[in-house]
Amino acid sequence: MTKTLAIGGYMKIDEQALRTDLDAVMASSLDSALALDDAERDQISAIAYMGHAAFGPEQMDAFPNLGLIANFGVGYDAIDVAAATARDIAVTNTPDVLNDDVADLAVAMLLMQGRRMRQGDAHVRSGAWAEGESFPLNRKMSGGKAGILGLGRIGHEIAERLEAFKMDVHYWSRSEKDTPGWDYHADPVDLARAVDFLVVSLVGGPETENMVDARILEALGENGVLINISRGSTVDEGALLDALEAGKLAGAGLDVFEGEPKVNPRFHALDNVVLQPHQGSGTVATRAAMGQLQRDNIAAFLAGRDLLTRVN
Ligand code: NAP
Repeated sequence: MTKTLAIGGYMKIDEQALRTDLDAVMASSLDSALALDDAERDQISAIAYMGHAAFGPEQMDAFPNLGLIANFGVGYDAIDVAAATARDIAVTNTPDVLNDDVADLAVAMLLMQGRRMRQGDAHVRSGAWAEGESFPLNRKMSGGKAGILGLGRIGHEIAERLEAFKMDVHYWSRSEKDTPGWDYHADPVDLARAVDFLVVSLVGGPETENMVDARILEALGENGVLINISRGSTVDEGALLDALEAGKLAGAGLDVFEGEPKVNPRFHALDNVVLQPHQGSGTVATRAAMGQLQRDNIAAFLAGRDLLTRVN
């Protein structure tokens, strides 16, 4: 008999659907799933995975009959896909259904940072405005030059939104794409030099680790703003903090961090950053759509049908 195991902290509605539609066994974390006894783990053929803990060869081998890892999320950098492929384990993710929300958050952080909305809110709440203190003028955002580092699904949505803000859109990807006239740069440093605002929408993982390094930050320059909605791993955080502290970069908007949810305390002391708790896809509607797509992949696998969004 084959069984589905759901790992992670699911919303109530998803947990209910996992139990009723797929008769899933629930485990709150990868560690607690690994603590199931041998007989239980032997029965598992599909895993619904939600989490950022590394799911590598050792964890896969603990489930000898595993045929599918269905990831909750489009970014599957926690899963060792090569190890899964070598074991004939399919991996699926949840692309597209979250593009709008992540793109909205990227643009929101950009505007919030540039228009100093965090400080504006504090100015009103503190009573300073009521007492006649004027709020300092801030930066014009519309009409600026914006760069997208990684013009994938989410990057494309961000570019379209920034175009609506009358920005000149530039981008880097591994190859030039068919776009409505956006400027392609074959070198990420050239992209950073050409723009005021740089939004990172790369995949995470070893290939893109610290891709945004000191050279890119220097090219972005003292008027530049960096936005990251990808993964903390894509940005050299030490170099970013050095640049922000030294005034060599105007600011940053970050939804993802190295070692999150613990955030380097050096960020807390900075007035020119907007910090978000990795909530790019965090709306009720989108999380529900992600859960549905994850379950649809598992149902297809159990019925022997083609998987909807396979990554290997
Ligand atoms: P996607 O369509 O696959 O786009 C990924 C981008 O990364 C593409 O531009 C791609 O380049 C680039 N890329 C892939 N492999 C690369 C490599 N080896 N070296 C350099 N660049 C590489 O993915 P997506 O759906 O837009 O999602 C992008 C990422 O956003 C996810 O992987 C995830 O980490 C992150 N994300 C974050 C949140 C959040 O809550 N903040 C939510 C969802 C997703 P090409 O254009 O050349 O193909």
